[in-house]
Amino acid sequence: MRFLPGSGRPTVAVVGFGYVGSCVAGTLADRGLDVIGIDSDQRLVEELDRRECRFNEEGLARLLFAGLDAGRLRVTTDLAEAARADVVLITVGTPVRDDGSLADAQLRGAARDLAPHLRAGQLVVLKSTVPPGTTRDLLRPLLEAGGLVAGEDFGLAFSPERLAEGTALRELRTFPIVTGGLTADCAESAAGLWREALGVEVLPMDTLEAAEIVKLADNWWIDLNIALSNELAKLCGVYGADVLDVIAAANTIPKGTGNVNILLPSVGVGGSCLTKDPWMVWRTAREHGLRFQTAPAGRQVNAGMPGYTASLVLAELAAQGKDPAESVVAVLGLAFKNDTGDLRATPVAGVVEALRAAGVTVRLHDPLVDAGAAAGLFGQLPEPSVEEAVRGADAVAVLALHRDFRGIDFAALPVASGCVLLDGRAYYPKEKIAELRAAGYVYRGIGRGPAAAKDPAAVRAVPSVPRSVRLLEAG
Ligand code: NAD
Repeated sequence: MRFLPGSGRPTVAVVGFGYVGSCVAGTLADRGLDVIGIDSDQRLVEELDRRECRFNEEGLARLLFAGLDAGRLRVTTDLAEAARADVVLITVGTPVRDDGSLADAQLRGAARDLAPHLRAGQLVVLKSTVPPGTTRDLLRPLLEAGGLVAGEDFGLAFSPERLAEGTALRELRTFPIVTGGLTADCAESAAGLWREALGVEVLPMDTLEAAEIVKLADNWWIDLNIALSNELAKLCGVYGADVLDVIAAANTIPKGTGNVNILLPSVGVGGSCLTKDPWMVWRTAREHGLRFQTAPAGRQVNAGMPGYTASLVLAELAAQGKDPAESVVAVLGLAFKNDTGDLRATPVAGVVEALRAAGVTVRLHDPLVDAGAAAGLFGQLPEPSVEEAVRGADAVAVLALHRDFRGIDFAALPVASGCVLLDGRAYYPKEKIAELRAAGYVYRGIGRGPAAAKDPAAVRAVPSVPRSVRLLEAG
């Protein structure tokens, strides 16, 4: 049995109207589908009714408001509305607990509330990132508690969401979509949905679990790759080699189905996905007696980057004989990456904390971030403009290069003489760095800048080859 109407465009309910849910719903409405957005957060629904969008994603507010104005998109807190839909997408949050296990309250809550409203013939697709087995073993029984049987009365599938904030809307219309179904009919129905609704390539997997693992594989790889890049940047920093040149050259040899593809180093990895999904992998493996090392290794390296970034600023201040306790550092960009206003797990928090611990006075600015949310996280209100943030600053740390920051005329900023320009995620080209130096700035990037002075204590502290390595070498 196919779980989609044979003709006509399906009506889609999106349960969980957060970052992902709103991007998916806005895109589907824009493509002409009728969409019902459902979220338990009454305030979020009221904001949208007032045509306010809390997510700072390029183009999203326009898309959502156009859908709402045209009546193709409706938002509500009432899960009973899902009964009117042909397809129900679940996009609630799936954080992990401290031990890496799934904090499943949102998923359980949504499934329990949805179950009594399911109708025969509907297709339910989970899009939230979950440990393998979750769709089959957790979601399915909760939905079946409503009296219908998955795979017979209603369809059940998993299609991970793989968009990245900052480029979400473009990616939603272009990325291939992975699908896995409880039965072959469920899988075919989900594949048909995405082909019809988004017109993108569909990658059918044999099982629900395979589809669930694809998403984890993507983020596990991305986090670990960035960790390699961050350590590469530290190595380049020792020799004054420009890590961007090294990566560009290293990435020119073919390997596997593409080239070597080292990603970019930065102030750190943040956001609600890359900081948790590797732990989901680790925990799942552990529950099956597997002791994985790569996922935690990536997390550990990347979690250390904010502290490393702060140490670069402090070293430059020290080189100029400046006392941190009398120094001001302006941080431009508080969000976890460029072109988003999302503060979740932002590495900037760690940089600010480390600078403050050294006695530095920190000023903050981010045009995309909600000022109240920033004050809550950082314990101080951000400055309203770049100029006010950098006035008299001994260092300016560009930790997210939003579009608004791309045209900053650094030469005209009222900074202290010999101001350090710490490039945490701007990746300024060499000509720009030369301009900055000509304007009197001391430039330092992650893995970019003059060679660091050799620390003799560090050389003495190098341990011998770890025993495990020697054992490996001995076969
Ligand atoms: P989010 O926290 O922004 O949104 C979750 C929404 O679900 C919230 O608005 C919340 O109020 C709502 N919700 C919670 N319980 C509910 C319930 N019982 N009924 C109705 N609504 C409920 O999370 P997000 O960033 O959109 O992420 C959603 C999922 O997508 C997660 O699994 C995440 O890992 C995954 N994901 C996120 C991104 C990203 O960039 N944010 C990218 C790819 C995948």
